Amino acid sequence: MPLLNEQIKILLELQKIDAEIYRDKKELAKVPELQKKLEADFEKKKSRLRSAEEQSKALQLKQKQKEGDLQTKEEKIKKLQGQLYQLKSNKEYTAMDLEIKGLKADDSLLEEEILRLLDEADQAKTAFTKEKDLLAAEEKKMKNDLAALDQEAEGIRARLAEAEEKRKAFTPNLDPKLITQYERVLKTRDGLAVVPVKNNSCGGCHLGLPPQVVHEVRLQEKLMTCEDCARILYWPA
Ligand SMILES: [Zn+2]
Repeated sequence: MPLLNEQIKILLELQKIDAEIYRDKKELAKVPELQKKLEADFEKKKSRLRSAEEQSKALQLKQKQKEGDLQTKEEKIKKLQGQLYQLKSNKEYTAMDLEIKGLKADDSLLEEEILRLLDEADQAKTAFTKEKDLLAAEEKKMKNDLAALDQEAEGIRARLAEAEEKRKAFTPNLDPKLITQYERVLKTRDGLAVVPVKNNSCGGCHLGLPPQVVHEVRLQEKLMTCEDCARILYWPA
C-alpha cells in the first residue's frame, strides 16, 4: 500500500469521478418524475377536452329536444285550427282561439330559445374543435419531450457505466478499510468525502478544527476526519 498521503491523492482523483457519478445518479433519478409530470399534465388537458365535448353534446341534445317540443306544439295548433270551425258555440270558439293564441306565444318563445341554443351549441363546438387541435399538438410535444428524456437517461446511464469502469483503476492502490470509510461518507455527504483543511477549518462543513487536529492532518501520518461531518481531512499542497 502507498503511504497515507499518496492514498489521499488517489482518493482525491477517485472523488472527482465519484462526484460526477453522484451528480449523474441524481439527474437520472429525476427523469421518471419529470416524465410522470408530463403525462399527468397531459391527462389534465385531456379531461378538459372531454368536458368541452360533453358540453357541446349536451347543448345539441337540448336543442333537439326543444325542436321536438316545437313540432309537437305546432301539430297541436294545426289540429286545433282544424277543429276551430267545427265548433258550435261562440264560447267554445273563444276558448279554443285563446288556447291557440297561448300555444303560438309558447312557440315563439321556443323558437327564440332554439336560436339561442343553436348559437351556444355552435360556440361549444368551435371551442371543442379548438381544444382538440390544441391537444393534438400537446400530445405531439409531450411524446417528443418523453423521448428526449429517455434519450437523456440513456446518455447518463452510458456515462455512469463508463465512470464505474474508470473508478476500478483506483481501488487496487487503496486500503480497503479506507475505501469503505470513504464510500460511507460519500453517500451521506452529497458526493464529497475528502476535503482540505482551510483556515484551520473543515473544507466541507467549515467547522473550526482544534489545533491538534490541524497539526495531525499536516503531518499526514494518520487518517484524520472532521468531528462534525466525518469527512476525511487532508493538508492542501
Ligand atoms: Zn466537517
